[in-house]
Amino acid sequence: MNKKGHVLNAILLSIGLGYVLQPSGDVETFVTIAELFVPIVLGALFPDVDTAFGKHRKTLHSLPVLGVILAYPIYFGNLQFVWIGVATHYLLDVVGSKRGIALFYPLSSTEYGLPVGVATSSKWADTFTVVITLAELAALALVQFFVVDLNTGTPREAVGALLTGLPV
Ligand SMILES: [Zn+2]
Repeated sequence: MNKKGHVLNAILLSIGLGYVLQPSGDVETFVTIAELFVPIVLGALFPDVDTAFGKHRKTLHSLPVLGVILAYPIYFGNLQFVWIGVATHYLLDVVGSKRGIALFYPLSSTEYGLPVGVATSSKWADTFTVVITLAELAALALVQFFVVDLNTGTPREAVGALLTGLPV
């Protein structure tokens, strides 16, 4: 996927996720969208920095890199939501192109992608990006309502009961 696709995906995802997290549709929703917008767009642009530094679709397109970015809000209390942009970039590169990305780099240079990918030059690229974004929003909404409150990080009741029921 090219920059335009990644930015389109990140913008739509920020707006949709704003409504998932604050469904009221009033000022709260727009504040949430504003809060999500820049971090997610920055995250969505970050992996392709490896076109200049490292090996493209490898160095910054791997799960270890996503893990490092995910660790920032947990350990340092900053960069919240950037991981969402990085994760959606990976997903779009995996399903939205024939080439794929090296998810386990530097352990392995094998690139994972779907052979059905839509080329970035295709007239269907934007439509495809929107469809992927809607699927992502559906998945995030399911997480928000049934697994964990993404606003606070608090597990939902059923998940909490499951976790406390586990032998430690
Ligand atoms: Zn990429």
